[in-house]
Amino acid sequence: MTTQTSEQLFQRAKDFIPGGVNSPVRAFRAVGGNPIFIKSAKGAYLYDEDGNSYIELINSWGPMILGHAHELVEKAVADAIQSGFSYGAPTRREVEMAELIVSMVPSVEKVRMVNSGTEATMSAVRVARGYTGKDKIIKFEGNYHGHGDSFLIAAGSGVATFGSPDSPGVTKGVANDTLTAPYNDLAAVQTLVDANRGNVACIILEPVVGNMGLVKPLDGFLEGLRAICDKEGIVLIFDEVMTGFRLAKGGFQERCGVTPDMTTMGKIIGGGMPVGAYGGKKEIMDCVSPAGPVYQAGTLSGNPIAMAAGKAMLTYLNENSSVYTHLDRVGDTLIQGMKANMTKLGLNYTINHVGSMFTLFFTEQQVNNFEDAKTSNTELFGKYFQAMLKRGIYLAPSQYESMFLSTALTDEHIQLILEANYESLKEIIA
Ligand SMILES: *Cc1c(COP(=O)(O)O)cnc(C)c1O
Repeated sequence: MTTQTSEQLFQRAKDFIPGGVNSPVRAFRAVGGNPIFIKSAKGAYLYDEDGNSYIELINSWGPMILGHAHELVEKAVADAIQSGFSYGAPTRREVEMAELIVSMVPSVEKVRMVNSGTEATMSAVRVARGYTGKDKIIKFEGNYHGHGDSFLIAAGSGVATFGSPDSPGVTKGVANDTLTAPYNDLAAVQTLVDANRGNVACIILEPVVGNMGLVKPLDGFLEGLRAICDKEGIVLIFDEVMTGFRLAKGGFQERCGVTPDMTTMGKIIGGGMPVGAYGGKKEIMDCVSPAGPVYQAGTLSGNPIAMAAGKAMLTYLNENSSVYTHLDRVGDTLIQGMKANMTKLGLNYTINHVGSMFTLFFTEQQVNNFEDAKTSNTELFGKYFQAMLKRGIYLAPSQYESMFLSTALTDEHIQLILEANYESLKEIIA
């Protein structure tokens, strides 16, 4: 397998794009080597500039739940393009999209479209602050909510009362308003709330975390957060940018039965186009301009082409609950197969799995929070990644990411992935 063209492109890219990529994790820094440049994709496959093909488990970090270039989405976009690209004025499709989202996601009574997950979370937090008149937010270590200033805060060890910025350019002032707790630690949250009584606007979290590798909420964690928020008048925000429309058509909130006050969405909602959204209770969403005083706007928000793609995707998911039973089955088969492979090789690494999302952690310890995740052997993960890539299986290039399955994966693909998994594990432990 040659990757010469990708390498040449990467050398050119580095002269004109910071680090050669438009989003950091695309560079293969965590796994070694240079990134592969993709030329096209169809169904379960990516095709690179050198003519290699890969069965892939990233699916654009989630959006391509139906596989690449699904004909329904393709047709919706092709049709929409005939009528112009953007008007900066309201359209019928935005109304239909809003109705669809409200019908699908339990917590959402009103919704505002934006252009990315980052915009959705930034806006949701502003609205929560405007609604409550409070400044502080609580987030969890290892949860990712996009690159907004408020979210780039390191938790440090234990419960940090005052965060420090995780990135140069984030001011101390912003950091001071972000409180962080370890995931799955209700007592830590209670301590933060007690120490900041009357000052906390919202608690934001991934109800299933995809961004430190896959981590599940322990029994009672989400219920406990709901109870704290109810008692203290704090807005509970589920960041379902990854899990929305993926773990169930109504997101993980449908699956777990805990209803947040607000929800942020992205990834699948655009069918592959740049789209995000935030929504929630009417009373809260009516704070948003021009209905209310909290300002938030977007020249390209609700873009007609993006709405066509998103609407085609969501309509399909709404009408085909078999998507989720199929994905759950594919996920179960793959995870059982991977566990069987490890047993054969005498390995006991941890696999976390919910529906069509999973992570193989190179640690034998249970992974319920970021500290646990960090016990993983990332060097070994890097070797595993390269061993899989060599065998034509394209994984997320970091231990701290989830894999995403699509309905384009057949039983045959799963067998190929399992064979590669066995051979790769065998190779890297040899
Ligand atoms: C990807 C992601 C975001 C950010 O979305 P972008 O579209 O990349 O800005 C926010 N929250 C979660 C949970 C995500 O997975």
